[in-house]
Amino acid sequence: MNLLFPLCWFNRHSPKRSRVKWDGLNFVGICRNCKKPIRRRDKGRWEKEWMSGPASLG
Ligand SMILES: [Zn+2]
Repeated sequence: MNLLFPLCWFNRHSPKRSRVKWDGLNFVGICRNCKKPIRRRDKGRWEKEWMSGPASLG
C-alpha cells in the first residue's frame, strides 16, 4: 500500500479497462490503483465490490 491513490479511500475507484466484464447485473472489474475487486454502482462511478458474499451466489 502507498499513498498514490487517495480516491480509493473514499470508495471512488478506477477500473482496469482490460479486466472489466459484465456479470449479468453490473460491470465488475479490478481497480487499477488498489487492485481490489470493484463493481459499477452508477454511470462512471465504481465502488468496492458490494455484492460479494455467499448469499449472493446463485
Ligand atoms: Zn481503488
